Amino acid sequence: MNWLGDVETLKGVGPKRAELLRKHGIRTVRDFFYNLPRDYESYQAATSIAELRPGKVVIKGKIDSLSTRRAQRRNLSITEGVIRDDTGAVRVIWFNQSYRIKQFSPEKEYYFTGNYELKNGRYSLVSPSAAEIAEIDTSTGLSPVYVAHGAIKSYDFRRLMSNVRDKFAEIPDLLPTVRTGARRDALFYVHFPNSLETAKNARDYLAYEELFELILASKLNRQENEKLRAMRIPFSAPKIREFVASLPFKLTGAQRLAAWEIFQNMEKDTPMNRLLQGDVGSGKTMVAALAAYGVALSGNQVALLAPTAILATQHYENLREKLEKFGVKVALLTGATKGKAELKKEIASGKINLVIGTHAILTDDTNFANLALVIIDEQHRFGVGQRQKLLLKSPEGLAPHLLAMTATPIPRSLQLTVFGDLDVSVLNELPKGRQPIKTSIMTEVETRECLYPKIRETLAMGQQAYWICKAIDDDPRTETTSVKSRCEKLKRDFPGVEIEFLHGRMKAIEKDMIMERFARGEIKILVSTTVVEVGVDVPNSTLMIIENAESYGLAQLHQLRGRVGRGSAASFCYLLTSGDLSPSRRLRELEKSSDGFYLAEVDLKLRGPGEIYGALQHGALDLRIATLSDTRLIHRAQADVKKFLQDSENMVKYKELMTGITKYQQITTLN
Ligand code: ADP
Ligand code: MG
Repeated sequence: MNWLGDVETLKGVGPKRAELLRKHGIRTVRDFFYNLPRDYESYQAATSIAELRPGKVVIKGKIDSLSTRRAQRRNLSITEGVIRDDTGAVRVIWFNQSYRIKQFSPEKEYYFTGNYELKNGRYSLVSPSAAEIAEIDTSTGLSPVYVAHGAIKSYDFRRLMSNVRDKFAEIPDLLPTVRTGARRDALFYVHFPNSLETAKNARDYLAYEELFELILASKLNRQENEKLRAMRIPFSAPKIREFVASLPFKLTGAQRLAAWEIFQNMEKDTPMNRLLQGDVGSGKTMVAALAAYGVALSGNQVALLAPTAILATQHYENLREKLEKFGVKVALLTGATKGKAELKKEIASGKINLVIGTHAILTDDTNFANLALVIIDEQHRFGVGQRQKLLLKSPEGLAPHLLAMTATPIPRSLQLTVFGDLDVSVLNELPKGRQPIKTSIMTEVETRECLYPKIRETLAMGQQAYWICKAIDDDPRTETTSVKSRCEKLKRDFPGVEIEFLHGRMKAIEKDMIMERFARGEIKILVSTTVVEVGVDVPNSTLMIIENAESYGLAQLHQLRGRVGRGSAASFCYLLTSGDLSPSRRLRELEKSSDGFYLAEVDLKLRGPGEIYGALQHGALDLRIATLSDTRLIHRAQADVKKFLQDSENMVKYKELMTGITKYQQITTLN
């Protein structure tokens, strides 16, 4: 058996079937063995037909009189037949499973398991799963259930698997850290369990292998990174102190510590690969400013990437104001920037110290003279490809230091596995004087009565509000109120109050203008789509209203809410729901907690990592078996990876492992 060879080389797999399997991602012999059962049916304790009682039952018998007909309702086919044993006969019925006609031969005996219940006035066995007796290990009565891949049904997989039952012995080991044959045995017991417990243990072993690969990929990335050379950035304590003294506030202890960790990294000639994790409003931008100033002092360049033009512009205004008086040249480069050619020349000549922008910085004709630090704000919104492009822009042979900032904290389990190659700084302290944001769920019908007074109160105190809507334009098919009509309505209800709307399809200059007027306090209520979701900082706004709150993810809601509570005044967030259903778990968690770290853990449980971390979008983290909540397995795999890496021969010897992990390496790194 050729383990890594084409699936077509397997017994029982012809060209047609191979084609179908390939379509469903099963390309090699290995893929075939790793196509694990989704569940097991237990056929123990069959009841004789004469003794059937309503409920879940197992019976053993032959089947005949099978036929399929269309029901009156469109798109429904009904397949019926009769199952007989020595004691009697029972009607069996399947819906939309016309392939059942082909599954059975009348002379063979099968196990059926399903519900025995009243259907159209007659007791029948409804939609049972079925397995040929000859295929089932009668001592265990267990039969694996595979996900049907198009025309290849669960019982086809069982049959194919039985064909190669004697081939398991040829399955090679993947890892040296476990007993010889561990993988072979695990795969065997997953497909042919002798009890549910052995099946579970076998799965655990396969999960361990998967975690091993993930952790190894991440560790190797770190080693690769350590081989690269970067510019050394000397740390000038007096200058930095002078800059800190010029700020309108005192740095938090966490900000100081993070900055110190960054300077320590950048003094070395190995590139920094650091993630700055801090909840919304914890002051990440200031840490970035300190790092940027340090690099500018050394005469080198910094690029700061933001996910939206609005945010880039805001960073630009904020940092220019703080840094230019210290001689740092700051420039903004977004899609809307005028005189781009001239600006790019200045960047290429090294005259500009700090370039702030969106992905426009990534276009191929922006060159840097001496790019030494790349800062990425809200990194999980950038694809892996985009990051790679940017890193290619540094001077020859030298990799830039990298600082990625995010408000979506990475739960510890991911930290240990996927992101093990990153150093992490945490801003676990909010600036002094912040008050927690009071969050309430409210139904839309209550708004006029309950929310309007709150809005009036906010405006009376000279503070501002955001109102977030889902859609830009009205859509007659849905009930959601658009940004535009909400704005109209508010203008009618609050005459004389300056209210404007903002959305992603507006021209960049328009957006900037609106944002500027809101930041200056001229606009009192900003009705907007989620373009203000990330990073936008207007400390005088204290009221956040999110309409159709149930349509957003937890992290996104937390981000939106983080637009308020940025000053010393008390802030409020209202999550509006249509009120048809009771509020979701997401909204209830959000109402209860303002701790981004806690919410991230909840989100990971509710949605899984692939949904949350943009860089994982490619599906590479759709772990087949492992769950990232199994810390016991994670720790074991971690220890074993360490052992594995101590012998460099291993990397040559274990080829299958080393090729297999490349897909993880792409997602577990920032460069
Ligand atoms: P985030 O971590 O969400 O990116 P920002 O960097 O936007 O947070 O900072 C939020 C607000 O807090 C900004 O208005 C910023 O000027 C202010 N800020 C930052 N650091 C401090 C501090 N040490 N003390 C008081 N305010 C601070
Ligand atoms: Mg920010």
